[in-house]
Amino acid sequence: MKAASPPPAACPCGSGKQLADCCGPCLAGAAAAPSAQALMRSRYVAYALGDEAYLLATWHASTRPAALGLAGQPQARWLGLSIRRDDSQGPEQARVEFVARYKIGGRAHRLHEVSRFVREGGRWYYVAGDLVDEPAGIPDGRGTRPG
Ligand SMILES: [Zn+2]
Repeated sequence: MKAASPPPAACPCGSGKQLADCCGPCLAGAAAAPSAQALMRSRYVAYALGDEAYLLATWHASTRPAALGLAGQPQARWLGLSIRRDDSQGPEQARVEFVARYKIGGRAHRLHEVSRFVREGGRWYYVAGDLVDEPAGIPDGRGTRPG
């Protein structure tokens, strides 16, 4: 006999799956992300849920900050994630380009980044990200980039 469980929550990463079938096990430490993109998604969810410990645990030691201070920052409301490109560069390295949308204090922002990941000891780690410049004024970034 089980008590009535709360309705299953959709995973904030936008996969369409339930949190428990998607990024949940990674965040709970029950499973390692099977790919760089899966790690990227789970880290987005960690930002959405304010799970700083998970963000630090999945950050490569060479670039990991001492703390993120998420609690002391204005609360961002994460609205969605879209993966633009998933570039595997062999079994140990990958780049994932994504756009994350969020709101702070009612203002919408976009984060367009190419994140770099490495795999060590069977686990993927976030190394660093490069912001992608976007021309201003294109709401969805679907326009071509100059140059
Ligand atoms: Zn997910």
